[in-house]
Amino acid sequence: MPQLIHRRLDTAPPLAVKGEGIWLTAADGHRVMDGSGGAAVACLGHAHPKVLAAMRAQMDQLCYAHTSLFSCESAERLAELLVGHAPGGLTHAYFVSSGSEGMEAALKMARQYFVEAGQPQRTRFIARRQSYHGNTLGALAAGGNMMRRAIYEPVLSEAFSHVSPCYPYRGRAEGESDEDYVERLAAELEAEFQRLGPANVAAFCAETVVGATLGCATAVPGYFRRVREICDRHGALLILDEVMSGMGRCGTTHAWEAEGIAPDIQVVAKGLGGGYQPIGGILVSGRVIAALRDGSGGFMHGHTYQAHPMACAAALAVQGVIAEENLLENVRARGAELEAALTERLGNHAHVGEIRGRGLFWAVELVADRATKAVFDPALKLHARVGQEAYARGLACYPMGGTIDGRQGDHVVLAPPYNVTREEVAMIADRFGAAVEAAIP
Ligand code: PMP
Repeated sequence: MPQLIHRRLDTAPPLAVKGEGIWLTAADGHRVMDGSGGAAVACLGHAHPKVLAAMRAQMDQLCYAHTSLFSCESAERLAELLVGHAPGGLTHAYFVSSGSEGMEAALKMARQYFVEAGQPQRTRFIARRQSYHGNTLGALAAGGNMMRRAIYEPVLSEAFSHVSPCYPYRGRAEGESDEDYVERLAAELEAEFQRLGPANVAAFCAETVVGATLGCATAVPGYFRRVREICDRHGALLILDEVMSGMGRCGTTHAWEAEGIAPDIQVVAKGLGGGYQPIGGILVSGRVIAALRDGSGGFMHGHTYQAHPMACAAALAVQGVIAEENLLENVRARGAELEAALTERLGNHAHVGEIRGRGLFWAVELVADRATKAVFDPALKLHARVGQEAYARGLACYPMGGTIDGRQGDHVVLAPPYNVTREEVAMIADRFGAAVEAAIP
């Protein structure tokens, strides 16, 4: 038995020994296309020469300096790149080492903001069911993935409550229009504000496009505008978790750009550093920062590895390549091709309930019955079987057993690198289609 604690204790996954472009090679020589970048992380594929060169240069210069004494150039430049032009009024950045840490920082920043702003009674957070915000205790309490929460429930903060996500495939009533669905969700959110007392709510938290728990579920038009309006009316902050969906994954730098609103605090991670280094962060509005600066003068938070020079240098290089190579355009163009190829191959499959997503962020939800949308017996773990069939065919994808009405459902995510080619998209769709057909004949 291996000493390393793997995700499963009874088996170890294959050893990955090389990554190059979209390809990953295992120790036994098996080569797979990285069709999901892990969990939508590797946005430039592997071993991009410009990123490696930037990392080597940073390594030669400075690997670490503690932020209580020093700043570093790569962190300053990364902040300037992300918020120097104040997108959506977000003017400041704070860098940590993961998405979960980013979420923790967002929650604590929101709480501190209201203490500094003279509203210390704002202690409540509203989030959404069927969401995922990370595995640390604060982020887990915010999340609404019942399976991940279950055994930790007794130790999760009760400051969090949950409303329905915007999930039209299952959440919208028969014949209900977008407008009516949005109004119904808005009424539910409003009722939750009223139940808690609107002046007690610090923030509403949501993934702009739901990643792991629902599989690339995009909101219907107008949903986030109503959410923004409700938060503003009650003086609460809007925290958008774009750990998976942001930094270009959905075809715009920030997924909220497509929704016509901006958050007060945004969490970023995976596409920020593309997996070259562990990095996440929050982007924060000028209003929130001003309250902290005029109040206690600092953020009551901190990590040993925050704004790490190597992580920031890697992220800076990743973002540089995305801009120089005009990759967001490629995300949109190849994304449209991936949607078309998946629809052609699987659109009529008896067990494909929905193919959904945006940009290069696509999921297929598998159902036992298309008419009733009944889920498969969770014991079958069909999502995992699709993953295994795909791996055997030389494709890595991201199978998830998201929770649906408290039960496990099945969806599989594809999230190829932003620099994927047309030919590679066709290969991914082909291998994926074959894997679904093999797993669920
Ligand atoms: N938020 C979202 C939306 C995520 O998808 C994830 C990771 N899947 C996280 C937070 C947590 O990020 P990490 O695993 O880097 O802690």
